Amino acid sequence: MKNLKFITKILHNKFLREDPYGSMHMPVYDNVAFEFKTAEELEQAFLGKNPGHMYSRITNPTVEHLEQRIRAVTDAAGVIALSSGMAAITNAILAIAGSGDNIVTSKHLFGNTYSLFEKTLKSWGLEARYTDLTQPDLVKGLVDDKTKAIFFETITNPQLEVVSIKVLSKLALERGILLIADTTLTPPYVFNSGEFGVDIEILSSTKYMSGGATSVGGIIIDNGKYDWRKNSKLKDDAKKYGPSTFINKLRSEVYRNLGSCLSPHNAFLQSVGLETLPLRVDTSCVNVQKIAEFLEKCPRVKSVNYPGLKSSKYYKIAKEQFGDKTGSLLTFDLRSKEECFTFMDKLRLIRRATNLQDNRTLILHPASTIFCEYSDDLKREMGVRETMIRLSAGIEDARDLIFDIKGALEGLK
Ligand SMILES: *Cc1c(COP(=O)(O)O)cnc(C)c1O
Repeated sequence: MKNLKFITKILHNKFLREDPYGSMHMPVYDNVAFEFKTAEELEQAFLGKNPGHMYSRITNPTVEHLEQRIRAVTDAAGVIALSSGMAAITNAILAIAGSGDNIVTSKHLFGNTYSLFEKTLKSWGLEARYTDLTQPDLVKGLVDDKTKAIFFETITNPQLEVVSIKVLSKLALERGILLIADTTLTPPYVFNSGEFGVDIEILSSTKYMSGGATSVGGIIIDNGKYDWRKNSKLKDDAKKYGPSTFINKLRSEVYRNLGSCLSPHNAFLQSVGLETLPLRVDTSCVNVQKIAEFLEKCPRVKSVNYPGLKSSKYYKIAKEQFGDKTGSLLTFDLRSKEECFTFMDKLRLIRRATNLQDNRTLILHPASTIFCEYSDDLKREMGVRETMIRLSAGIEDARDLIFDIKGALEGLK
């Protein structure tokens, strides 16, 4: 059957090998090594001529099943599942760039991603150049012959900025560099990144895909559009591996050597999570819209930031790219940090926790948590205000959530 929709495809995707017991879930292969009948077969496996599994740091049937399911719904050229979203970003960047190279990005990024670029990778000679990615001329001005990629988040966390992906893609194509998107806030069910010209998609499967905060994981998706001969680090590999160059570089070097594998148990949880991802995305996006519209009407709330609100400057571009699923995160501002804390402490249902896309609605004060290591000036540049609260909508009944928020707002002096 062709042209099945996302959720149908996920639910009816076949195993690569039929399960001897007819299990309907891929079992958890919680083991390290796989034995071979002869020394020659083992040699063939090491030479890559035998597709079997050898060692679970490199491949594992349960992890492979998750990768195959994601591949089936994204039409990707290749998918790799990793131990976390941060591992996915690190692996992707280290596969395509080295010392002396640079990537162009924005300070409007997830806090740990900024720290990875600015602290960890910088100390190894890899430069991140920051600009306003909504301004193509500024981006162009930073690209030089050492630029390997433009890196952006489809909806930035927590600024909720939305860039035109097609504009960035055109620019990347003109300069022969990669376009890498962190799509954590808009996972594959929401939009097809390949159609917008994204070469490599990265997401934290800890979020929506884990099925409600069950496990940490990350995904790299190669949309198969990039000509790897254009990347100086990979051009020799490209002669041999063609379209598989990037995935091969990861699997047989970077991912293997860094030991970034996803545990089979977490792969199982995420594979189960994937089955209900569309339902949870739909519900949380409806909930966040209702909460945003409610907050906009509250006189105690100074401002509300959500790309699905008509008042957002990203409304039009967000709708063009993501339809009615413009993420389940919103931010809003009260009058002071103290007021934010009091509000948060008065909530009875919504949980104070640092995660997003949980089944439960979560709330956080970004400036004092994820961004606490940065100076006030840097926080300002990163769009993180002391008066700002971030809310990640879950899948509860929106009426209960709004009642909780209303009560906490009324509790402010
Ligand atoms: C959470 C998150 C990450 C990091 O993912 P982990 O799975 O926690 O390593 C990266 N990018 C964004 C946008 C995130 O929200």
